[in-house]
Parts: sequence; structure tokens; C-alpha cells
Amino acid sequence: MTKPASPATEQDHKPSNFLRQIIENDLAQGTYASRRWAGSPGDAAHHAKGEPDPAKIRTRFPPEPNGYLHVGHAKSICINFGLARDYGGVCHLRFDDTNPEKEDTEYVNSIIDAVQWLGFSWNQPGNDKAYQASDYFDFMYRAAEALIEAGHAYVDEQSAEDMRVNRGDFSKPGVNSPFRSRTSAENLARFREMRDGKLADGAAVLRAKIDMASPNINLRDPAIYRIRRATHHNTGDTWCIYPMYTFAHPIEDALEQITHSICTLEFEDQRPFYDWLMERLCECGLLAAPAPKQYEFSRLNLTYVITSKRKLAQLVNEGKVSGWDDPRMPTIVGLRRRGYTPESLQLFAERIGVTKSDSWIDYSTLEGCLRESLENTAHRAMAVLDPVKLVLTNWDEVMGAGHLEPCTQPALPHADEGTEVPTRHFKIGKEVWIERDDFLEEPVKGYKRLYPPRPGADGQMLPGNKVRLKGGYVIECTGCTKDANGVITEVLATVIPDTKSGTPGSATVKASAAITWVGVNDGLQAEVRMYDRLFTDAQPDAGGKDFLAALNPDSLKVVTAYVEPSLANVPAGEHFQFERHGYFVTDRVDHAGGKLVFNRITGLKDTWAK
Ligand code: ATP
Ligand code: MG
Repeated sequence: MTKPASPATEQDHKPSNFLRQIIENDLAQGTYASRRWAGSPGDAAHHAKGEPDPAKIRTRFPPEPNGYLHVGHAKSICINFGLARDYGGVCHLRFDDTNPEKEDTEYVNSIIDAVQWLGFSWNQPGNDKAYQASDYFDFMYRAAEALIEAGHAYVDEQSAEDMRVNRGDFSKPGVNSPFRSRTSAENLARFREMRDGKLADGAAVLRAKIDMASPNINLRDPAIYRIRRATHHNTGDTWCIYPMYTFAHPIEDALEQITHSICTLEFEDQRPFYDWLMERLCECGLLAAPAPKQYEFSRLNLTYVITSKRKLAQLVNEGKVSGWDDPRMPTIVGLRRRGYTPESLQLFAERIGVTKSDSWIDYSTLEGCLRESLENTAHRAMAVLDPVKLVLTNWDEVMGAGHLEPCTQPALPHADEGTEVPTRHFKIGKEVWIERDDFLEEPVKGYKRLYPPRPGADGQMLPGNKVRLKGGYVIECTGCTKDANGVITEVLATVIPDTKSGTPGSATVKASAAITWVGVNDGLQAEVRMYDRLFTDAQPDAGGKDFLAALNPDSLKVVTAYVEPSLANVPAGEHFQFERHGYFVTDRVDHAGGKLVFNRITGLKDTWAK
């Protein structure tokens, strides 16, 4: 059989995965072609009044607003919004706020920011708002009554302990509750008493009536409603009973006409209940068929990173990091402040792909995506991170006393032809800052940077080494000065006139290396935060390990550096490649006019590779 030709679209360039295959198959079969959409979530009757759904598929990203999103959520966001984009669908942002205890508007706002910053939007034709699961409480209650009326649910008043014991385990089937054989009428009356606050918290639960002997423990009459006197941020004190997540979630999907409900693998065992519930509620006409289907993929595990919300909160609360947006945190706000770009995270999600097998992704994959995203866009600049002064002792004599020679370099060295690239301007004079390790008094084998004259094999003095000050002149090292402790205070050299970069004489003298530098006269002082991995252990919390014991003591070093004058007025959140050093960003929080603060995102190469 030959595959039918499909029009060339963006999706053709993306590697396929099992989710794409499922969606392509559903589109080819017209599985969801008959669906209608009434412009807002609702039951079967509501959608029956709507138009044929303009969205070919509907996916959703359903965070619980109880914490900051992290890199794992970024994967889920890219998958769900990315699939909707690629297949003419829409992706809903839905706050899964059915648990009354934990929600907070601070988290709601940070989630909205994170999704938008990653480059996605839920405002599209056929969809115009972010949804809240708690808006569906009325329907969930109706659905529960419908199950009771059809004999599919009952109020159980066993103690929590009896319920646990009677559930059985993997080797032992469960035992039916003595309340299981109540009539529908009895159950309905009792459930209404639960709703009306006549029973104490924990005195009863509503359970689906499925099969206490099922090999899947999730099908042994799972609880679907519990009594909980708690004020909900959206519905206040309207309810004292709340749906369980496993009951609420499929209903949320169905009301929103979701076609492909994509979640992480730990929900695999819940899928039979998801399907059971959807069948029952479609059967009785409450929900519009075809019902959504659940698909699971493996969650992201990233080396040197923890993603548990509880453990991340511990890092914040115990002051191990400066906050949720500390540039070492794997939260989206942290990654953003660190300098990760939306493009780099999208590229990362694409590259790691979607599978059903659990695996660990190496942190260097994420760093590689960042380098790729910035390679052709981040302007180059020179910065000296560990400065020592270099004095050109013959400058006044050969160049003129106090002379400053203007130099230029392109902001992007490898820009495509025809693209206009800004030019960086800076000046060279008698004194410049260079990196301390660009000079060695006694050069080691193979060292090509600055070192002073030294005796050769025949006892004759050999001249000091020659290097080019990048974009400036070739210089010849003559020595250094030291303080009383033997610490080098100045490196000494002579400038070789007529060797300026870009002039005809530049090639006449051979330099063994080019080093970066910043003029003492026009260089700007900057605070540079040299971030590194937060943990030294690749799997800091695996197997119940104490992740705090694996904190990297060198995850942040703050240095006072000098940067070239072209960086004088750069805004916060701007990306640069500091030549020879790596990628940096101006800090979103602390960088301001008059105070330059840069964060190191990552080096130019992977330095953690074994
Ligand atoms: P918790 O840490 O409290 O268990 P959670 O990480 O499951 O919470 P949710 O807000 O429920 O957080 O997650 C929203 C969505 O993000 C879910 O669909 C979930 O499957 C997905 N998700 C969460 N963590 C990861 C991860 N590490 N990799 C991929 N997807 C993830
Ligand atoms: Mg969760």
C-alpha cells in the first residue's frame, strides 16, 4: 500500500512520534469529525446546539495552580500546544483547581506568564479563554447523581481503615462494602445529605460501583466524591463535597470537547476508569460522544535537576536558592532569568521527543539547545572575567602619549550576507584588562598565550611570546610586576605598530593566539554571576537520596568583571556571547541603568562531559 500524499506543511519536517501517529490516524479516519462546539465548554445538549467544531483536534494543558511550572511542564506545554498548532487544533489552558486546599492566584498568574512566554496562546478561533475546572462543579455533581440513578455509584460509610483493608491488594481481591447493595433511591438521598452538609468530613464517600475483584486496583470501586469543608478560591463555601481528581479530570476533558488527553505515564492505570466513566456518561446522554481518549508519555527526567514541587519548595524555603526565580532553579521563571530562551526550550522539547519509556535526559542536551538558539542571534562582546592589567610599555613612545586608537568588530561575525550587522566600537590605549590566565610566567607545554622572554636550549634568550589583542594590535610580552606576596599585579608587553586588525599590516607579524581584552579607559565594570549546576550528583533525589547533600557549593560565583563599552545601555533580559567565555544575559531583576549585572547561562562547550 502506498501512503496517501499529504500537503507539505511544517509538521512534515518534525520527527514523528506515537502521539503524532495517533492524531494523524484519527484525522484520516474522521474519528472526531462529527463533533460540535458551542463556543464554550458544556454537556451534550449544549454542544449539540453548536457548529461543527472548527478545531480539528483539541488538547489541553491542565496544571494544578499550586506551584511554579518547571522544565517538565515546559515539555508538556510544548507537546500539547505544539500538536494543536501542527494539526489545525486548539489547546486549552485549564487550571485544574478542583482541590480546594492548595490554589493561589500568584500561581495562576505565573502559569499564564509561563505559557505565553514559551510562545503559546489559547486565544484562537474556536477558543478564547483559559478555563477553570472548578467552573464545572455543578456538572460534576449532576454526573454523580446520574451515575447513582443508573446504579453505577453508591455512598459508602465504612471507616477509612475498613475501606483500605477491604480494597485488597495486588495478590488479594477486594471485599464488597456492606453499603454496596443500597438502592439507587437510598444512595441518592444519602448523597444529597452529603452535599447539604448533614454528614461530617470523612463520614462517607461516593464510590463508583465497578468491580472489587478487578486486577486493576483503580477499578475496585474508586471514590469519586468526598466530604471536605473547605473554602474554595472560586466557589467559596458553596460546596462541602468535592470530586476526586480521577473523576473530575475526564469530565473536564469531555466538557471542553478535548479529543486527545495527553498525560504522564503514572496515569496509565487510571485509563480504564477514564474510559469507564466516559462510556457511562455518554450512555446516559450527559456527555457528547465521541468521548476524549487518554494517552500517556514518559515524564521528563533531567540529570542534575529535581522537578518535584515539594523539593523545589524546600530549596526556596530553606534559603538554598534566592527564590522561585533563582537562575539555578529548573522553574520556567528560573530558566528565563538564567537566560534560556523560548526557542531553546521548544527545541529541547522537540529534540527529546515523546516516548513511553522512562529515561534520563542529559542536562547538556538542554545547554546544547540554548547554544543553538543563540549562536546566530546573540551579539558578541568582549568581557574580562578575571582581570589583570596589561601595560603596553612602549605605547606613549610609538603611538603618542595618551593616545586612544578606535577599534571595531562586528556584533555577529557569521551573519548571512545581506543582513545588516551592527558594529561594536571600543578603544585601545596604553592599559587594557586581560584574563589572568592569559599570562603564564613559566609557560606549560603547548601554551600559546602571553609569556615573557626565556633562555633557549643554547642559553640564548628567546623573545617573549606574541599574541593579538583581538580587534587590536599584535603585542610582545616582556614580563610582569608582582606584589610582596608574589601575586602578579601587571603584565608587561610592547605593542607592534602597524599590525592593527583590518589594516594591510595586520598579517605581517605572526601571533600565536588572539586573546580577548577590554580597555582600561573605556571598559565598564560589571557584576557577573557565574552559575553552574545546582547539584553535583546527576540524579540528586533518586532512590530517596538526600538531595540537599548533593548541592553544588560552587553553583554560584560572583565576579567583578570588565566589559566593553558597547554594553553601556543594554536592557535587562538581553543575550550575549562573551567571546571565549560562553552565553550570558543581563539579569531581569537586578540589572538596571548604571549597574550592569550579567548571568552566565552556559559555556561555549560542555565542560561536564566525562
Ligand atoms: P506534582 O509535582 O504536584 O505531582 P505535577 O508536576 O503533576 O504536580 P501538574 O500541575 O498536575 O503538576 O502538571 C500539569 C501537567 O504537566 C500534567 O499534565 C503533568 O503530567 C505534566 N507534567 C508534570 N511534570 C512533568 C514532567 N516532569 N515531564 C513532563 N510532563 C510533566
Ligand atoms: Mg499533578
